Amino acid sequence: MNAADLPAREAMEFDVVIVGAGPAGLAAAIRLKQIAPETSVVVVEKGSEVGAHILSGAVIDPIALDRLLPEWRGNEALAHTPVSADHFYLLGSSGAVRLPNFLMPSLMSNHGNFVVSLGDVCRHLAQKAEALGVEIYPGFAAVEVLFEAGAVAGVATGDMGIAKDGHHKDSFTRGMELRAKYTLFAEGARGSLSKMLIERFALHRDRQPQKYGIGLKELWQVAPENFRSGLVQHTMGWPLGNRTGGGSFLYHFGDNLVAVGFVVHLNYENPYLSPFEEFQRFKTHPLVRDTFAGGRRICYGARALTEGGWQSVPQLAFAGGALIGCAAGFMNVPRIKGSHNAMLSGMLAAEHVAAALAAGRAHDELAGYEAQWRGSPIGRDLWRVRNVKPLWSKLGTFVGVALGGFDMWTSTLGFSVMGTMRHGKPDFAALKPAAQCRPIAYPKPDGKLTFDRLSSVYLSNTNHEEDQPVHLIVRDVALQKNSEHDVFAGPSARYCPAGVYEWVEEAGQLRYVINAQNCVHCKTCDIKDPNQNIDWVPPEGAGGPNYPNM
Ligand SMILES: Cc1cc2nc3c(=O)[nH]c(=O)nc-3n(C[C@H](O)[C@H](O)[C@H](O)COP(=O)(O)OP(=O)(O)OC[C@H]3O[C@@H](n4cnc5c(N)ncnc54)[C@H](O)[C@@H]3O)c2cc1C
Ligand code: SF4
Repeated sequence: MNAADLPAREAMEFDVVIVGAGPAGLAAAIRLKQIAPETSVVVVEKGSEVGAHILSGAVIDPIALDRLLPEWRGNEALAHTPVSADHFYLLGSSGAVRLPNFLMPSLMSNHGNFVVSLGDVCRHLAQKAEALGVEIYPGFAAVEVLFEAGAVAGVATGDMGIAKDGHHKDSFTRGMELRAKYTLFAEGARGSLSKMLIERFALHRDRQPQKYGIGLKELWQVAPENFRSGLVQHTMGWPLGNRTGGGSFLYHFGDNLVAVGFVVHLNYENPYLSPFEEFQRFKTHPLVRDTFAGGRRICYGARALTEGGWQSVPQLAFAGGALIGCAAGFMNVPRIKGSHNAMLSGMLAAEHVAAALAAGRAHDELAGYEAQWRGSPIGRDLWRVRNVKPLWSKLGTFVGVALGGFDMWTSTLGFSVMGTMRHGKPDFAALKPAAQCRPIAYPKPDGKLTFDRLSSVYLSNTNHEEDQPVHLIVRDVALQKNSEHDVFAGPSARYCPAGVYEWVEEAGQLRYVINAQNCVHCKTCDIKDPNQNIDWVPPEGAGGPNYPNM
């Protein structure tokens, strides 16, 4: 059936529609209701419930929560473990050097911060938002932006009940149109609608390309003797070489829980590199492996994060809406923190939306939001660290990070000898042809400390309706074979943390197999495919991981 023959979608009108129930979207919703309780606000979330698709570290800087919900610290319903110790190591293959805390600029200190599950924080924020009258629709992905006279006028959720071959099943139902005076896009890193809006309104004009990393994480329940409540530990170096950026985090919190994760910058060059295997290797280092002895891995997942910072944040506002949170890229890379800026940006945008609505405006550009963020705490946070990522990319881990540290010190004092550095090429253009690189032999998993990809994906509780169109769109299949496979040796089979992509030889023919049901919605393929030939689009609502507390 073509689109013109379909029954019309039902439409609902709101003052504000918010896409994504992460920290940015929920903070915006709460702030709007705090300022103007009569405002009608709806939040759509593609996860089966709020928090189901949230994956973070997470050590949070409480600046945003303190402003949004000042009573949160005394609230036992929101579990949070104060940071008790803050360690930073440079790793070699068998040794580790601890960097003294006094060498770090004060902005890098984690004292006064809290270890949380960001998924749980979002569930808590959702309860607060609903108590204020916000309508939250989990299980509904926004798949289309609605336009009126060139301005954004809301979003449509996806149709349900379409089979893999495109025919409409008995369960077919049309999506809903959620129309609004203003629409805030809070989809997180590499949001699918945000990507389209950035292109359509050329929001990236005059900006540096956005940079990304992939973060992989496991949650462990460790033996009580290995638990140190509030210990926060970061590393750089091994198993990554000097030319590949990234590092690990290890946070002890809650009831004998340890969040362990590994970030690989997506401007890596060697197509044989596997972020998943690097993470597994990292856990075998003598500094950390004993933490997991006698413990149990309870969850696994992965998510892209933005790394471009100050110079890559696109224009935020456009007619009828704005980008907030990591959809715009407010992550502070050296601090490995973005949730505070996500919330602050949601709150700032909400204040400008509330003022616009009070003035009887609709569908115009929130110019004040755009004008204010660089002078706000978000801008101050990102300005001081703006050269760390470019120096790291250009000079490698050892020299780049040392110089980056120096630049953070001087920027904290109010000046920088480096000015504002450029990032250079986008991440997808960084891969070298396989012929110029050496294959990497990764050790086999032992099933106790290190694991394979499929048993890991099982712990993400990922679930998709199998009979639906594949939500990973390969634009040009011939190009995928001629370039992704023949030139780059099929990096998707290695960078995808869920084993979605495989090149399979059958009767002398190569076939690109896409196991879409395993996808954990990290968005790495959309970022790293060397030809930008893969588009991640939202699958049927509620599909994807079901993280309990990531
Ligand atoms: C491995 C890792 C470790 C991190 N560690 C830390 C840390 O320790 N401290 C810290 O402060 N920050 C950390 N961050 C960064 C932090 O997680 C982000 O800055 C923060 O989550 C951004 O919030 P957000 O609301 O913008 O986006 P997200 O948290 O990504 O939330 C976006 C929400 O929108 C939903 N969504 C997306 N598209 C659609 C759509 N089309 N329709 C409906 N719903 C949609 C998603 O399902 C999701 O629920 C880390 C990130 C990663 C990946
Ligand atoms: S298919 Fe793409 S978005 Fe899904 S898990 Fe793999 S890399 Fe991530």
